[in-house]
Amino acid sequence: MKRITSQRRAIEAVFAKHDRPLTVEEILNYGRKSVPSLNIATVYRTLKILTDNGSLVKVFHPSFGTLYERSGKDHHHHFFCRECNRAYELPGCALKVDDAAPDGFVVEDHEVFLLGKCPKCIAA
Ligand SMILES: [Zn+2]
Ligand SMILES: [Zn+2]
Repeated sequence: MKRITSQRRAIEAVFAKHDRPLTVEEILNYGRKSVPSLNIATVYRTLKILTDNGSLVKVFHPSFGTLYERSGKDHHHHFFCRECNRAYELPGCALKVDDAAPDGFVVEDHEVFLLGKCPKCIAA
């Protein structure tokens, strides 16, 4: 099982280095830099293990699909760059959610996705 361990380490290292929500493709591409034999099936299997054990959480986006990020963070929002398709983590929450719902509704949680261009793409 040594091989599985090194592949799992490679994926954990990807998240340590890129601290933002990542797509499966990004995880595969970054992980291959240290473990060239990494394949998509292993990535999916490892992501399931790391999600089941609580190390990672899934982020669902209507058009970008499922992304993964490290667990244990405070509530925050995400920014999706329409140019490079990268997802970024935004610090904190500036929403007054109680004012956003009409009378009679109780807000328990929310997800916010901001869309636009990231600084890298604006500079490019
Ligand atoms: Zn961008
Ligand atoms: Zn919020």
